[in-house]
Amino acid sequence: SSVLGIETSCDETAASVVARGPDGKGKILSNAVFSQIAEHSAFGGVVPEIAARAHVEALDGIIAAALADADKRLCDVDAIAVTSGPGLIGCLLVGVTTARALAAAAGLPLLGINHLEGHALTPVLTDDVAFPYLLLLVSGGHTQLVAVEGYGRYRRLGSTIDDALGEAFDKTAKLLGLGYPGGPEVEKRALRGDPNRFNLPRPLFGTKGCDFSFSGLKTALRIKAEALVPLSEKDVDDLCAGFQAAVAAIVSERTAHALRVQPWNALVVAGGVAANQAVRSALSELADKAGIAFVAPRSDLCTDNAAMIAWAGLMRLGAGEALEDIVARPRWPLDQAAEPLLGSGR
Ligand code: ATP
Ligand code: MG
Ligand code: FE
Repeated sequence: SSVLGIETSCDETAASVVARGPDGKGKILSNAVFSQIAEHSAFGGVVPEIAARAHVEALDGIIAAALADADKRLCDVDAIAVTSGPGLIGCLLVGVTTARALAAAAGLPLLGINHLEGHALTPVLTDDVAFPYLLLLVSGGHTQLVAVEGYGRYRRLGSTIDDALGEAFDKTAKLLGLGYPGGPEVEKRALRGDPNRFNLPRPLFGTKGCDFSFSGLKTALRIKAEALVPLSEKDVDDLCAGFQAAVAAIVSERTAHALRVQPWNALVVAGGVAANQAVRSALSELADKAGIAFVAPRSDLCTDNAAMIAWAGLMRLGAGEALEDIVARPRWPLDQAAEPLLGSGR
């Protein structure tokens, strides 16, 4: 069976066809992504209205490209899966409305997928990973440690109490005059910097539980940077290196707590920040010490894409779940089932 996935929750317009063989393994037949970075970079962040408009303009072409790359027509797939939350409401509505129209026209089942579930299940698509696994979800809007006990069975062990980690990278980059998105820029500069020049705090380090906090780190970095104005290239490199070293230490220490909660088959990292090499190597070391596998999807499957949405749709089809009508939900925690729908959206 195969599913067409559609993703428009934020600033990537994406469509993908993923197939699932009799062995249960997934195969990405196409993965088309149009990133709106150019549209938003002048503003140093995503502008919701611009994003929604850009989705309207790009989505039809991206879906056509995904079908063509996969050598499929719409009537060849078994269902359409679309991100129905969480995300920017105007953006979600573009994807949901388009998916609903295509499903009605082709007589296909329509599945509303939680974007976070897409990130959470990506490692099952890319690697042979067995449940239960410990998931560190680190993206632009979320930072959570989640017990993934099976398909559809997620238990949150901890979350950020302030900024998401991707957001902390983006704000730090903006403060230092680097481009958007900030994560890759900060990582590049950190490679050249001295991580020990600045002594930056590690909020919640050593405390009980699995929650995160990054706002104190961000503020401390701002104070150090302001004292140095005008910043030299070397100052920026060293601030990025110090920031990234603090982040890797925090993430590693918090994840170590979660590793002790129960036995796990693997430690898995997902979401855009999972593309960061310093974060990856800290986690890999941790998993080695715990004697479990470490799984990180390749970086184009860490950031937003529709293959993860198609794959979550395939898992849902495989689980034989009732196909419900869908509505766009700007807020939708991973460990909460979609609330019962009042009336039909179709
Ligand atoms: P969410 O998934 O929570 O809705 P999102 O979809 O915007 O948010 P993703 O696309 O998963 O988030 O990730 C984007 C984030 O990842 C951005 O904040 C970006 O700075 C960060 N990021 C991307 N590459 C790197 C990197 N190499 N190092 C650190 N952060 C990175
Ligand atoms: Mg994005
Ligand atoms: Fe995402």
